[in-house]
Amino acid sequence: MTDKKLPFSKQTLENIIEKYPTPFHIYDEKGMRAYAKRFVKAFDWNEGFKEYYAIKAAPNPYLMKILRQEGFGIDCSSIAELELAEKIGMSGEEIMFTSNDTPAYEYQKAVSMGAIINLDDIAHIQYLDENIGLPELVCCRYNPGSLKEGNAIIGHPEEAKYGFTRSQLFEGYQMLIDKGVKRFGIHTMVASNELDSDYFGGTAQILFELIAELSQKLNITFEFANLGGGIGIPYKPEQKEVDLEKMSAGIKANYDKYILGNGLKPIKLYFESGRAITGPYGYLISTVLHIKDTYKKYAGLDSCMANLMRPALYGSYHHISVPGKDELSNKIMYDVTGSLCENNDKFAINRVLPKLEPGDIVVIHDTGAHGHSMGFNYNGKLRSAELLMRENGDVIQIRRAETLDDYFVTLDFSGVPAFKV
Ligand SMILES: *Cc1c(COP(=O)(O)O)cnc(C)c1O
Repeated sequence: MTDKKLPFSKQTLENIIEKYPTPFHIYDEKGMRAYAKRFVKAFDWNEGFKEYYAIKAAPNPYLMKILRQEGFGIDCSSIAELELAEKIGMSGEEIMFTSNDTPAYEYQKAVSMGAIINLDDIAHIQYLDENIGLPELVCCRYNPGSLKEGNAIIGHPEEAKYGFTRSQLFEGYQMLIDKGVKRFGIHTMVASNELDSDYFGGTAQILFELIAELSQKLNITFEFANLGGGIGIPYKPEQKEVDLEKMSAGIKANYDKYILGNGLKPIKLYFESGRAITGPYGYLISTVLHIKDTYKKYAGLDSCMANLMRPALYGSYHHISVPGKDELSNKIMYDVTGSLCENNDKFAINRVLPKLEPGDIVVIHDTGAHGHSMGFNYNGKLRSAELLMRENGDVIQIRRAETLDDYFVTLDFSGVPAFKV
């Protein structure tokens, strides 16, 4: 297979573009809901299982509302993300607050909403205690260091800034007990965009063995184990998605062995996935503005790295389709570029595509997570709109495009009167 399927035809796209000019991101509700259902079903053996959607991946209230209807909670890491949760009526243990290098006012907000606090560092026990007071339920984030191989995006765990060391966890939970905390959870996240279904069983094993040891040594009961995010998606057409049932079976085998096998009470499993949940169900739609032929051939789009920075930031592959032309046989190699004054503003380098012309519609795949949300305003570029294709095919706008007024709103021109000649 050399291509990836689209949930809309060229004609449908043209109709949408008549109303909403390119560039925009569009999300496919049907695909997203189907995946969410499969995800929950794969873990139906675990009572209390919950996926907390990592809202940083696509912080849009419409998307969160859909996922909440599928039983998901929300994973927040900043005050803005907490407020977004609040604005859509989420509170209490529907919210996981997994932050790092956290200021007191963010802890304050999270605690006041009753969110589950996931501490990134042992020093934050005292910081939280002194500044706000410890809540009844606390989770700590484990960094297994050299015990676990990391992967390209997140790097080696021992180089990662996140989490407690193993010995700090023993010390940390004891401090929490001494300070009167009654309920406990534990978290780890050691990979990002991992496609190997078996990888997660290995992570679970490390965490479950540790839970058994902590439970016995400190005489505490863990309510939940949060396995983090990091489930990968097949950005390339030849890649295969993570087999959720296989992943779940690998985790269950270790759960049975280390949790139940050690006589511990059942614990709830949590995830805080972002990418896998919405990534494949979002598309960046652009129009070809210019074709340039110099030392290489360039296809210049009406979008840029401000709309999708993963290729420039990580060298990531995002598949590109040209609806109506993909079947043509005359293919040409292009660098597909945006308009930033940055030579790394390229969606693809040396990509073989159908012969392009100005006006062609180009679809960039898998932008539903860490796509629009990573956008920025460098070079005065404005972030695009976001659209949602409902299950019945209707298309609605769920975020308008930024305007020049938005761009200028933080500036003060009053002390800089217009220059008169
Ligand atoms: C980014 C992040 C996630 C989500 O990761 P995905 O790769 O999108 O699944 C979950 N938890 C934490 C702490 C994160 O930083």
